[in-house]
Amino acid sequence: MNIIVKKFGGTSVGDVDRIKKVARRVKKSQAEGHAVVVVVSARAGVTNSLIERAKAIQKNPADRELDVLMTCGEQETIALLCMALDAIGVEAVSRTGWQAGIITEGLHAKSRIREVSGGDIRKQLKAGKVVVVAGFQGVNDHGDLTTFGRGGSDLSAIALAGALRAKGCQIFTDVEGVFTADPRIVPKATKIEAINYEEMLELASSGSKVMQTRAVEFAQKHNIPFEVRSTFSTKPGTSVKKKVKSLEDTLVSGVAIDKNQVRVSITELPDRPGAAAAIFKVMAESGVIVDMIVQNVARNGKANLTFTVPSEDAFRAEKALKEHFADGASGKLGKSTNIAKVSVVGVGMRSHSGVASAFFEALANAGINMLMISTSEIKISVAVSPDQGDEATRVAHVAFGLGK
Ligand code: ASP
Ligand code: MG
Repeated sequence: MNIIVKKFGGTSVGDVDRIKKVARRVKKSQAEGHAVVVVVSARAGVTNSLIERAKAIQKNPADRELDVLMTCGEQETIALLCMALDAIGVEAVSRTGWQAGIITEGLHAKSRIREVSGGDIRKQLKAGKVVVVAGFQGVNDHGDLTTFGRGGSDLSAIALAGALRAKGCQIFTDVEGVFTADPRIVPKATKIEAINYEEMLELASSGSKVMQTRAVEFAQKHNIPFEVRSTFSTKPGTSVKKKVKSLEDTLVSGVAIDKNQVRVSITELPDRPGAAAAIFKVMAESGVIVDMIVQNVARNGKANLTFTVPSEDAFRAEKALKEHFADGASGKLGKSTNIAKVSVVGVGMRSHSGVASAFFEALANAGINMLMISTSEIKISVAVSPDQGDEATRVAHVAFGLGK
């Protein structure tokens, strides 16, 4: 079977007209000879409004119940899209995450996929049906519904494509692909034709909002190539795969900005083995993802430790740290502040020097102060004040000769 997985995000299925459009697109793909599995998100704004409703009732709703609530968004879409397909003469059947055999483990609201059986999807495809699967959700060993973190429908699509050995996996979204920078911030940004998993992963985890980071990670780990493209055009998008021929002299492939980062600082941390480890153990146990970490040189036996966490985890991080210090651990929790993280990414920097100096010089020339720096083999990130994030992105884009 020539299986293709097509994932449509929230804006692509945003209203009735768009759902009908998606149905026509699916019909066309089936007519071209594909066995089509569609993965959908909740309509744009639905997940947020469900969360708001929950919070209006209980400020900190239990993650288990929040998962039950949030999965409703995708379930609405699978039913509506099946109806839209039926209306144009395409036989379709909806499947929830558990019906598709998506088995999860780990914490609610950020569960991981342990295995995907696909349920009876192959059988339905063989019978000539389109199968429409609810993204973002699975079921754990207790039979509880779980979700994969925001943007998690991408992960559902990639995992299903892998499990079904699909010939293709297309992530349809409201932009034309992966760009050298966010075009709303950098008008000269251009679409990247092809990119490897590694760079895509660094861009995604650095704030490029095109794809969920965990989905890219999963694709890389299991080598599941995919394409990111627009629902609203027929132009080819960006293909993401293992190996991409790149120009020798490309140092940086893209610039990403993440405005949803909070800097947490801890002062008066005792300068002895285990003090920092204890902090990060607390973070890990609360399911908080820590990104940039800076520890200064200790003075008088005390050190300062600063790190960034995603805004959505900030409340949880602070709560856990307050409890940690209240329980008698030494150290003091400082005031948390918002920051913007700007990152330049490129496999070229593995074999070339001068990327950091070019980046920092460009920021300095623009009068932008760096608050924190972190690097990986193919990425350099700096934290800057939130109001300078966009400008930092633009100057980096120019500094590395990206764009038109
Ligand atoms: N509906 C979920 C969200 O808004 C999952 C997704 O759209 O991929 O995060
Ligand atoms: Mg998305």
